[in-house]
Amino acid sequence: CGIIGVVLSRCGVLGKPLGSVLRDCLKRLEYRGYDSVGFALIGCGGGIVVRKSRGMIDAVSEKLGFDFYDGYIGIGHTRWATHGAPSDVNAHPHTDCFNRLGVVHNGIIENYRELKEYLVDRGHRFVSDTDTEVIPHLIEEFKRNGYRPYEAFKKAVELLRGTYAIIAIDVDEPDKIFFARNTSPLIIGFGDGMNFIASDIPAFLEYTRRVLVLNDGEAGYITSSFVRVERIVDANGGRMWVEVDFSR
Ligand code: GLU
Repeated sequence: CGIIGVVLSRCGVLGKPLGSVLRDCLKRLEYRGYDSVGFALIGCGGGIVVRKSRGMIDAVSEKLGFDFYDGYIGIGHTRWATHGAPSDVNAHPHTDCFNRLGVVHNGIIENYRELKEYLVDRGHRFVSDTDTEVIPHLIEEFKRNGYRPYEAFKKAVELLRGTYAIIAIDVDEPDKIFFARNTSPLIIGFGDGMNFIASDIPAFLEYTRRVLVLNDGEAGYITSSFVRVERIVDANGGRMWVEVDFSR
């Protein structure tokens, strides 16, 4: 499947609505194969918008009017189903109970059954058959327990087993795209007053050639002007996240 995240300094700087930017980036990842397409963005009014469906990129984008949605931060996904049939509800992005988060994922969360059971016991309502949907609910659960969104995202990542490239947006920390990688590819593109993150470089090559290929075990966030990368290490009998110097 294919993943794209775009964060701009403000709406409109690319001369076309963010929905159509995400669609064009996803088209360049089409070769990776897919059965469903979707995006989540934070609109200029502040709320999160999620549009997704089973089908081909051009047809879905036409049907759901991708071109009519603008925003300054967004994530897109082309799905290659592994858990749950190709369908509108199983398409990514997935959200939490209150629609404050959008999450897309490439890979397989091997321990999703036990995580789902734990979350259902705590009152989370699931709508899809995917392994991915545990991720936004886990983040939400950590937020309920007092963690700030980015910290909650990292706590959630610590519990995941399997393969993943994950990116997420959260209206409660609306300047950042969070990311985490284990096995599935993820690459950052540094633009001018904007940053990108994707499964492969062609997705954002139109906007920048300066890239950072992320390593397994790394997580962090991008804003329109800043990139932070961290990795988890064992320290003092526990585990902690430390900043990675990525001028490698
Ligand atoms: N395992 C996830 C799903 O089935 C992600 C699949 C993918 O990488 O597209 O929805």
